[in-house]
Amino acid sequence: MEQLAEAELYFVCGSQHLYGPQALGRVEEDAVEVVRSLNAPGRLPLPLRFAGVLTSSAEIRSRLAEIGRDPRCAGVVVWMHTFSPSKMWIAGLSSLSKPLCHLHTQYNRDLPWSEIDMDFMNLNQSAHGDREAGYLQARMGIRRKVVVGHHADPEVAERLAAWARAARAWHDWQGARFARFGDNMRQVAVTEGDKVAAELRFGFSVDGFGVGDLAERVRAAPPSEVAALVEEYLASYDAAAELLPGGRSHPALIESARIELGLRGFLRDNGCKGFTDTFEDLTGLGQLPGLPAQRLMADGYGFGGEGDWKAAALVRALKVMGLGLPGGSSFMEDYTYHLAPQSHLVLGAHMLEVCPSLASHRPRMEIHPLAIGGKDDPVRLVFSAGTGPAVNVSLIDLGHRFRMLAAAVDLQELPPMPKLPVARALWSCRPDFKTATAAWIYAGGSHHTALSRAVGPEVIEDFAEIFGVELLPIDQETRLPQFRQLLRQGEAYYGLAQGLRG
Ligand code: MN
Repeated sequence: MEQLAEAELYFVCGSQHLYGPQALGRVEEDAVEVVRSLNAPGRLPLPLRFAGVLTSSAEIRSRLAEIGRDPRCAGVVVWMHTFSPSKMWIAGLSSLSKPLCHLHTQYNRDLPWSEIDMDFMNLNQSAHGDREAGYLQARMGIRRKVVVGHHADPEVAERLAAWARAARAWHDWQGARFARFGDNMRQVAVTEGDKVAAELRFGFSVDGFGVGDLAERVRAAPPSEVAALVEEYLASYDAAAELLPGGRSHPALIESARIELGLRGFLRDNGCKGFTDTFEDLTGLGQLPGLPAQRLMADGYGFGGEGDWKAAALVRALKVMGLGLPGGSSFMEDYTYHLAPQSHLVLGAHMLEVCPSLASHRPRMEIHPLAIGGKDDPVRLVFSAGTGPAVNVSLIDLGHRFRMLAAAVDLQELPPMPKLPVARALWSCRPDFKTATAAWIYAGGSHHTALSRAVGPEVIEDFAEIFGVELLPIDQETRLPQFRQLLRQGEAYYGLAQGLRG
């Protein structure tokens, strides 16, 4: 994936000196064993590094500060094998700058009924040691995920893995940069937002660039590279006859390759992990980037249409979360509905820019007019998205704070639509179309989303928790009266929480 830094997780085990060096030696051996078991292939998406048994205030403060300074660290997992008086953790946790996961496990699985004595009891104390830790974390208002169960339990690794994926996306956003070519579409409200507030809350910056500077790079694309890229296009996708060499629209394919090279070079040289464009400002570009935006998304770049930088950041985050998983993620828009009495469905698409990582088959390059923007016809990949469960995520700026929505949907088989000239996805909603759509609209969710077949709702929930941003799931359990009540309570809670903590 483009511009993805190495990341790892740290594991710290809490204890105290009360038990003597022999018991502490055993605590360390057990903690190392827990880490080893969690690091078994396929359990966690990031390596978990043992960072010691911590037994005093000074040690906890200095180790957590050290971890905080490590740019590779995406998060910290804590576990109290024994009792570890929590006042010792105040200073360390006060300055912790990484996502936190509290693993409430026990080294020993089964109680040795006939052998159990006080030595056993004193060693296997997480049942109360982790409660002491939980009290302090609750009292300090520390945002974290609590994962409960024996370390060998597959479900424990799954819960941890979901958090690790969220932590990795957090890590990727810190210091990330997203480029905006042009502003957002005129008069549109939901794509607006406070970029300063976003950087304070999320850690990424959104910077505007002149479309002219991009256009210059597009014009300067070396002909040999352009020719090689056109070759790559023809080898990777099916193509409409008019786009083939000698075809009447082949020059448009060459222009598309030039735009892709210009965009890639620009993003690479400016250290950007994603971008937005708008059909209202294409000064100097021959066509709205369709195929280039789709291919850049497939390589892990975030993208948002019509200047939607929140969508671009979210697409990038979902791509990082889903790394190594099948399914893909894309920029998406709720476009039009099928409202047959027995089957209410949403047809998702965009003018051009849907990521081929969602495709269920080899995409086909086509060229068609774009009714808006007044530029040349853009080349685009046309395909249908695969089927199965997916999540549709929206990030909106309410003015005084951000809100995230995550709707669980089920991607459906698409009937042939020979006249539709764009990539598309079709989904049913949970618990049903009317409830899900009303909930989305009550919450102010955007028409632009990031849709993922790779990532489940739990990862999004963990991600929102890391940032302290409201997350409203819309799923099988959603009932409108309760959902509307959640919205009212959220107004009060998040207003108050932000007021208290800044
Ligand atoms: Mn749009």
